[in-house]
Amino acid sequence: MRDLSRTAAPPRPVTRAGFDYLIVGAGFAGSVLAERLARGLGKRVMIIDRRPHIGGNAYDHYDDDGILIHRYGPHIFHTNSQPVADYLSRFTRWRPYEHKVLAHVDRRLVPIPINRTTVNTLYGLDLDEAGVAEFLKARAEPVAEVRTSEDVVVGAVGRELYETFFRGYTRKQWGLDPSELDKAVTARVPTRTNDDDRYFGDSFQNMPLHGYTRMFESMLDHPNIKILLNCDYREVAREIRHENLIFTGPVDEFFDCRYGKLPYRSLRFRHETVERETFQPVAVVNYPAEDVPYTRITEYKHLTGQTHPKTSLTYEFPSAEGDPYYPVPKPENAELYRRYQALADATPNVHFVGRLATYRYYNMDQVVAQALALYGRIAKAEAEGRSLHEAAAKLSDLARSVPVQRTRVNAAE
Ligand code: FAD
Ligand code: UDP
Repeated sequence: MRDLSRTAAPPRPVTRAGFDYLIVGAGFAGSVLAERLARGLGKRVMIIDRRPHIGGNAYDHYDDDGILIHRYGPHIFHTNSQPVADYLSRFTRWRPYEHKVLAHVDRRLVPIPINRTTVNTLYGLDLDEAGVAEFLKARAEPVAEVRTSEDVVVGAVGRELYETFFRGYTRKQWGLDPSELDKAVTARVPTRTNDDDRYFGDSFQNMPLHGYTRMFESMLDHPNIKILLNCDYREVAREIRHENLIFTGPVDEFFDCRYGKLPYRSLRFRHETVERETFQPVAVVNYPAEDVPYTRITEYKHLTGQTHPKTSLTYEFPSAEGDPYYPVPKPENAELYRRYQALADATPNVHFVGRLATYRYYNMDQVVAQALALYGRIAKAEAEGRSLHEAAAKLSDLARSVPVQRTRVNAAE
């Protein structure tokens, strides 16, 4: 990867010392804001990350065998938001890719989301679409009020398919039973009665042609943007003079966990390369059985289209310890987050944005939409001559208005 921290800036008149913005975190949230503030408003931006690279969790790189892999597990880009797709298209070309996932069940590989093929294969049937709808309806259990991740699935496909595909996987992934998790978690996965075997139904499904890191490099390649890696905010908070702060790390950490730690689920990734051209028929195979310690195996060549005599894989082992990857959607965590959110709202000249800082189980496109919306407010406030702090006060309203469902993102709000 090109060392962007050494990007030479052409001389420009410096009127004040320091930066207009210090941005903590070079993932989607931080990088979109750095790009917009520098290119859109001419701001002087310093973006830092404690990791040795840009891109946050979407970081990809070539491994020792020269195969492009995602260090933090498979990242598949999909969105229904044309403004988000248009924005990112300024920094990358795309490779058409529709994601397919198979689940390993009873020594067979069947499509997940559950569809007509899944039902017919597992039960040895030959039902048409209406037949599958009938089949599922007959098994679905009535649920008076759908509250939990168990309710969602049991109410749609019944207990047997719930146990086959969701119970074990979810218990591994979250360390919690689906009955303890908000309904939004398993509601991310639809149920189908037709033959559609795509994981997502979004209108825009493409991968960055040369990878995410190249896309981030292009976003951050601007003379007003300086990049500092391997650097924790705490080490430099007082050293780097700045007027405004954008924080995209864990919100509880920013406030020294004063109300207690917000739970985040972590993962351990086992990356390996095998001496064969392909390993599995699709990019991701899920392993829902609870006695298998990993949740899924990813084979990257399906995502990237790369040809290579070997193939690289990642096994995901969910874990309570490690980097924070997933906010854990359950009511008491949402309650604790609200207390941190109130602190965040009352902190002048600091904007909290992104998956960890707003404690939301967001996909990449939703984070881009959230960051663009914050930028829109900052730019509007500047144009109207209002203080940025007033704009910041509205961020919490905004965060609430960005939908959690992957199908309804609107960057233009
Ligand atoms: P991050 O990418 O987490 O970036 C935050 C950055 O802040 C990190 O790099 C971190 O090192 C840095 N940071 C934190 N604290 C500090 C500090 N104190 N000092 C300095 N730096 C700090 N989304 C999809 O749309 N499709 C997918 O297929 C998909 N798959 C995923 C698979 C996995 C395993 C995971 C974990 C997530 C997946 N996502 C996917 C979600 C996606 O990763 C996020 O939506 C997106 O990357 C969030 O961007 P962000 O900028 O908010 O956070
Ligand atoms: N899930 C499951 N079995 C599967 C796929 C998903 O139980 O085969 C559940 C699990 O709880 C998971 C959630 O549905 O965390 C959402 O799945 P998704 O693929 O959207 O999760 P992601 O990997 O994007 O976080």
